[in-house]
Amino acid sequence: MQITDELVRRAKSAAGNAWWEGQDPVLRQVLDERNEKQNLRLARFGLWAAAITYVSFGFSDIYLLPDVGSLVFLFRIGLAIVVLSLLETGIWLRLPLKAIQAFSAMAILASAFGWLFISITSSERQLAAEYTIFGTIFILATNLFFNFRFSLAAASSSIVTAGCIYATTSMIDVDFKTKFIHVLFFTTSLTFSLYLAWRLSHERYHTFVNSLQAQIQEQVAIEKGRQLKKIAETDPLTGMLNRRALSQEFFALKRSELALGKHIGVILIDVDFFKRYNDSLGHDIGDECLIRLSQCFQETACAYHGVAGRYGGEEFLLLCSVRDKEELATVAKALCDAVEALKISHPDRPDKRDIITISAGATMTETEGAMELSVLLQQADRALYASKFASRATFTIYDPEAVHMHASRQNLALLLSEAVERELVSLVYQPIKDAQTGKLLGHETLMRLRDFDGTPIHPPVFIPAAEQTGAIVELGNWAIEQALTDLCVEDNDTFVTVNVSAVQLKTPGFPLKVAEILSSLGVQPHRLALEVTEGIDIYMEVEAHRNIENLKRLGVQIWLDDFGTGFAGLAWLNRFRFDAVKIDRSFLVECQSEQGLSLLEDMVRMLKHQKFTVLVEGVETGEQRALLKQLGVDLMQGYHLGMPAPIEKVERRKARGRG
Ligand code: C2E
Ligand code: CA
Ligand code: CA
Repeated sequence: MQITDELVRRAKSAAGNAWWEGQDPVLRQVLDERNEKQNLRLARFGLWAAAITYVSFGFSDIYLLPDVGSLVFLFRIGLAIVVLSLLETGIWLRLPLKAIQAFSAMAILASAFGWLFISITSSERQLAAEYTIFGTIFILATNLFFNFRFSLAAASSSIVTAGCIYATTSMIDVDFKTKFIHVLFFTTSLTFSLYLAWRLSHERYHTFVNSLQAQIQEQVAIEKGRQLKKIAETDPLTGMLNRRALSQEFFALKRSELALGKHIGVILIDVDFFKRYNDSLGHDIGDECLIRLSQCFQETACAYHGVAGRYGGEEFLLLCSVRDKEELATVAKALCDAVEALKISHPDRPDKRDIITISAGATMTETEGAMELSVLLQQADRALYASKFASRATFTIYDPEAVHMHASRQNLALLLSEAVERELVSLVYQPIKDAQTGKLLGHETLMRLRDFDGTPIHPPVFIPAAEQTGAIVELGNWAIEQALTDLCVEDNDTFVTVNVSAVQLKTPGFPLKVAEILSSLGVQPHRLALEVTEGIDIYMEVEAHRNIENLKRLGVQIWLDDFGTGFAGLAWLNRFRFDAVKIDRSFLVECQSEQGLSLLEDMVRMLKHQKFTVLVEGVETGEQRALLKQLGVDLMQGYHLGMPAPIEKVERRKARGRG
């Protein structure tokens, strides 16, 4: 059944109707159509059963009223044969249910009256009069056995009743009391069975309206889930797959291609000198350029039966199935050529070229070893850096033997292990504000890392690496201590949030460490909030679960980060009593469309209904800020309200705020 808006509206209003308000004709028709087959079967079965019973009663006619019994018996048999043949012909001709039901009602009338009016001609007056009592069977059958529409059941059963009453009262030689008892009995039977028929029809209708409501809700939930999934999987600017979706694509490819004996090629792409392009032409032109490039990557990916997505900023990723390194090189070269063919002019390149080009690093799965996406990405990343080294606008295929593959990003593991000691890691703080008043309430701590040569390494690159090597435990503890020292020791009124990864949460003794830091600095636990991401699978981990409970008991706040992007979102909400929920910025980006806006509204309403403090991330414009205020969001965060900045800048901001 197609659920239209019209049907949704009618079902909604019908569910609120009281019993005396009548049934909605459109819904009624839908119900009849839905039950058509079943009712047809019921009518056919009913008539066959009725005909057999009707004929069997012929024996009691012969026994009770010997003078007319045989005639009645013959009538019964004749009528049964005619009715059943007509019924079967009607079904064979595929007559509509309405016609079959009307015919059934007429058959009942004929059988009742035929029997009745022959019987009362018997000379056994008293007996015949008493025998008319069986007329009630026809009344009951019409009302209760055939699922007739109420109007049809009422009309035909009333006619049978009238016939029965007429038959009894017309027998002048029966005493008045007997007549009275009969009339009373027939009318009571009619009233009761009509009431039951009405109740049944009413209940069938209401069950249908309720099931329709449930069906509508389910459809809405499925549709919402589909939208959520789509938003969670696409890059808002280019509409390409995002990082999350790409890793799923990788798993899917892994399953299908490896089984066919093929390899998966992973090509990491970086747009050359894109920052300069952006700075000289502005962000709008920059965005336009990224969109054109994304189309170009997608077309190339399509040509090689692969998929392309945006990996972050100006980095893109292409996954495809390849037979060998030669084929991988063909795809990578095709990418570079396709971009150059676009001839997008770049006015501010430090080299001699004047158009947009890309650098690419490519690698592929081996028969043994390197199967994990993270490992392949690291390899592709090294190859990409080798391309950048070789004056850009080129591609490099990863080669574990080549020394320059290790040259530029060094060994990330080594870097991470020495990061704190050599002060390569630092923290920046982004303000979190009251969405209603704009008041500064706290800061989110974001980690920054520099390579030995000073080049910044993005969190999406080093955080997963630190999780892999376990360095995140030390880095994370350091971040908590540093953030509290920077923001909570002297200042007494704001809070600070720190991101924690699953690895930290799973580490035994993590809450104890946090308690130690808090007490050594003399900071109240509630001023620290730990942000956990719903995507991480601590759901099943006993240790992580216990740690979260202990941290909560300690008084530390636990916030749910990136809500809406993972798949366990709703289940997670019920798992822990989160102190706040941060809605991922992708939902705010989607708000340009009406659908996206209603999705965000629904989300906020749902979270507020469950009494969560709601924060929306990624506020980049004044309009977005006004929208959040209007939606009743509690907290907000984003570039428009404050960029992530080092502590010195935060202090200056605060001083300005006070002054
Ligand atoms: P996140 O926790 O969702 O952090 C918010 C990210 O959004 C930050 O990126 C921030 O700079 C960026 N952002 C804030 N406002 C806006 C805005 O208005 N528009 C846009 N486009 N972006 C905005 P960043 O610093 O690159 O961090 C990326 C991710 O790395 C973080 O996402 C977090 O998951 C992780 N991360 C950062 N620091 C740490 C840390 O100390 N520990 C752990 N475990 N993870 C961290
Ligand atoms: Ca966060
Ligand atoms: Ca977030």
